[in-house]
Amino acid sequence: MSYKFCHRLKNALFFSNSDIIHCCSGEEQTSPKFMDNYYGEFFDKNLLYESKKSAQLRAKNGEVPFKACENCHSFTEEEWDDDLSIKDISISHWTACNCNCFYCYTAKDKNYFNTRKPYKLMPVLEEIKDIIDFNGVVRFIGGDVAMLEEFEQIVDFFYDNGMRDFYVPTSGIKFLPTIEKILLGGYGHVIVSVDSGNAEMYRKIKQVDCFDKVAENILRYISAANEGGSLFELKYILIPNLNDNVEQVRSWLDFAEKIGAKNLALKNHCDDNGLHYGQFMYLSQLLHGLENGRYKLAE
Ligand code: SF4
Ligand code: SF4
Repeated sequence: MSYKFCHRLKNALFFSNSDIIHCCSGEEQTSPKFMDNYYGEFFDKNLLYESKKSAQLRAKNGEVPFKACENCHSFTEEEWDDDLSIKDISISHWTACNCNCFYCYTAKDKNYFNTRKPYKLMPVLEEIKDIIDFNGVVRFIGGDVAMLEEFEQIVDFFYDNGMRDFYVPTSGIKFLPTIEKILLGGYGHVIVSVDSGNAEMYRKIKQVDCFDKVAENILRYISAANEGGSLFELKYILIPNLNDNVEQVRSWLDFAEKIGAKNLALKNHCDDNGLHYGQFMYLSQLLHGLENGRYKLAE
């Protein structure tokens, strides 16, 4: 049956700081929610299924299942089946990070976000194991995984149950054998956003003096990714009036070439005229936020 529905609403589960949501489109406050004020308690798995089922029913009846879905790029007309199993899990319940990017929301109060203790997730995952489809993907979206006490245990849990797709962004400041294991195993998509190609710009943006350390760790991760056949990606976030010039982008491209990074999240550059365009994974999400008034463009 063809109707407008959404892959995330159908099959995703997102553990945020204090809620369980169906997706992270927009802010946590406005995302379609399963549970409010959630801090690691056991919950009724049937209720989760019922919540997805009733959203699907609303969609089948031509309704918009949640307000946030209105005009969302993921709310698409397709032939949908009725499989509501959980196969896209985002772990995003911790905020501590060993980096200090000035553009990060945690920069507002670094001490608070670094000392905030996340709830334990492992007991919950064990409890809901039978509703997870392990042919899916696990995404870590929080602070830095180096600061997540349960990181290795969570990866092992999913891996031991058959999961073979792990998405792990990291600052790269601390070398993690668990990330290396994921890359060597051929089931990882690891991203480091350096936003610069030299120590000076790195320090300005990240507010920590770790460029050389990160470069060294990236080198090791790339070697593991090449050996295992995983995806390692080097990212560059363009920041107006800081690194959004050809000189800085070239510095980053030179750095990427030097360390052998093959996958860059700034897609193309022109030899004579500078950059063609940047690729931003969540551009459509940003546009949706602008349309719904969640985000505003700076002057
Ligand atoms: S807001 Fe968008 S991504 Fe989230 S459940 Fe609705 S349609 Fe899906
Ligand atoms: S690495 Fe990510 S989580 Fe850490 S400060 Fe930078 S943007 Fe924030």
